[in-house]
Amino acid sequence: MRIGVLTSGGDAPGMNATIRAVVRAGIASGDRVFGIYDGYRGLIEGKIEEFTRKDVSEILSKGGTILGTARLPEFKYEQVRALAIKQLQKNDIEALVCIGGDGTYTGALRLHEMGIKTIGIPGTIDNDIASTDFTIGFSTALTTACEAIDKLRDTSSSHQRCSIIEVMGRHCEDLALYSGICCGAEYIITNNSGLDKEKLLSSLKNDRLAGRRHAIVVISENITDVYQLAKEVEVYSGYECRATILGYIQRGGTPTPEDRLLAARLGKYSIDLLHEGITGVAVGIVENKLHYTPIEEALTMVNEPNEELHKLVQKIS
Ligand code: ADP
Repeated sequence: MRIGVLTSGGDAPGMNATIRAVVRAGIASGDRVFGIYDGYRGLIEGKIEEFTRKDVSEILSKGGTILGTARLPEFKYEQVRALAIKQLQKNDIEALVCIGGDGTYTGALRLHEMGIKTIGIPGTIDNDIASTDFTIGFSTALTTACEAIDKLRDTSSSHQRCSIIEVMGRHCEDLALYSGICCGAEYIITNNSGLDKEKLLSSLKNDRLAGRRHAIVVISENITDVYQLAKEVEVYSGYECRATILGYIQRGGTPTPEDRLLAARLGKYSIDLLHEGITGVAVGIVENKLHYTPIEEALTMVNEPNEELHKLVQKIS
């Protein structure tokens, strides 16, 4: 087969390890694999190059994506996707492996409806794809968030401060929930737990009166203005308070072993599925087993709140 591979949407650590796995597993199966630069934008512009095994050496441990990524909102228009089909036909590419998040999956689904054999691989730090237990990049972003929160705890403790730390995740709570638990945050605020400001402020005030030296509040992005919240904490709780938005630092860095392993497994699995004639699917890991779901279904699935972890937070924070 002649197979294209691209990365699209937000970048994530482990995308390179995934590209490497797709290229090497493809070549090992007798395929020819083509790297497509800059996501769907590069595809319509014909930025396509055949990759050898050697082209993907030394990238396994690198963050980011050697293929680059881009956003092309116009890809929702059929006329624009027709340009992509033209490029694929010109290069005799019959199948496409698309690494990215749900936007990337939607693009892959639309191409599949137009006759291209597509596979979606979950590459995003947000862990917001419900058809897989974990996305490639989440483990690394979690590690980065934990390192940062541990450091902020040191300084909060020295200065007897409250630290409010905003982590990424778009609308998925996992980065906040997991990092909050891993770092022993006193309060974890996500879209599932909700922000009850009065309760938070009075709890912090009581903690302070009871002699606590510091507090860590981990909060998901898109919940509230954390700088404003820090001001309110200062006024009402008696703590000095600082807000830190971890931001794009969570997108970079060398992938963790967990992300590298997931990348290797899902990259090879994608090639196996293409050879079995199974396409239009999103691959993932469910209870540590390889799993695929039709992309259409994957896009409608919702991440349920993790009740077990929420209960755990109530007991140990
Ligand atoms: P992610 O894949 O990380 O969710 P985006 O939501 O930005 O990132 O999507 C990546 C790209 O996928 C978009 O720039 C666009 O090219 C393509 N895409 C997103 N939504 C659609 C859609 N409804 N139809 C076709 N392509 C889409």
